[in-house]
Amino acid sequence: MKKISIVIPAYNEEGNLSLIHSEIKNVFLTLPDYDYEIIFVNDGSRDSTQQTLEEISKDCSKLKYLEFSRNFGHQNAVKAGMDYADGNAVISMDADMQHPPAMIPNMIKKWEEGYDVVYTIRRYSKNISFFKRKTSDFFYHILSNLSDVDLEKGSSDFRLLDASVIDAIRKTGESDIFLRGLVKWVGFKQYSIDFVAADRFSGSSKYSLGKMMRFAFTGITAFSVKPLYLAAYLGFFFSFLSLLYIPYVIYAFLSHTEISGWASILMTVVFFGGIQLIILGILGIYMGKIFKQIKDRPNYIIRSKNF
Ligand code: UDP
Ligand code: MG
Repeated sequence: MKKISIVIPAYNEEGNLSLIHSEIKNVFLTLPDYDYEIIFVNDGSRDSTQQTLEEISKDCSKLKYLEFSRNFGHQNAVKAGMDYADGNAVISMDADMQHPPAMIPNMIKKWEEGYDVVYTIRRYSKNISFFKRKTSDFFYHILSNLSDVDLEKGSSDFRLLDASVIDAIRKTGESDIFLRGLVKWVGFKQYSIDFVAADRFSGSSKYSLGKMMRFAFTGITAFSVKPLYLAAYLGFFFSFLSLLYIPYVIYAFLSHTEISGWASILMTVVFFGGIQLIILGILGIYMGKIFKQIKDRPNYIIRSKNF
């Protein structure tokens, strides 16, 4: 009997756990040919997520949990679930019901047809704010242009991975994980399904604007060094531009043309100051990645688990 592992990261999701648990149970009632396990990864929640998980797991042998020692972030939580899952396929999904469990049979069907990765593309529901929509589209646009992996807009962390893909991902030892990119990067036979994200059932989104920005930078710098070339190109461009300017300055000097320089000098100083800081920042982000990677700390620490 084939076994499916469902991995669900949960950070302060006390209000969603029993619902998603029972929904998944119901889905598998319609799939009697499959065994399953649900691995909740409690990512350092501060509410009663842990107690709830311990409570539910008493009555359900399929429910497993990993408790982190603190909050390590969504991507690390999903990675941990993948590391501990032992199904023939692993499905990762959010705890808040935005990823409809009703799609699970479809994903399994595609997997049975021979696809190793069945990933989903989120179409917007009406209730997603204009701002989130636009920032998200912009992010995927930039990412696809800047990096070597081709990510569709609306890529989500709701996906099925065959055990062989999970194996490949386990072997990557990145400290700053960006799973959407990594899954594309590993290759294999991939199939995409569209879905409309439902509203979050209970609680509020854990991704603030700041976190989204960080996530975007992580994604771009994890799969591309193109931003580094930007610095060199800009340097060449402005050096060339200044070459054109020099004859004019000499001419003005020799012909005693009076030029008031205050405004132009200030503009140039501020402009180039800004560009230099941006480029320093980009260099810094890559350096920070090397720094994190070289320390070789684990991506997460487990405080307790029930299996
Ligand atoms: N999550 C997590 N750790 C975090 C932030 C989020 O495990 O630090 C989980 C969260 O519990 C949820 C999933 O990641 O199951 C997606 O988070 P959320 O729904 O807040 O993101 P959004 O759907 O708003 O992008
Ligand atoms: Mg959500």
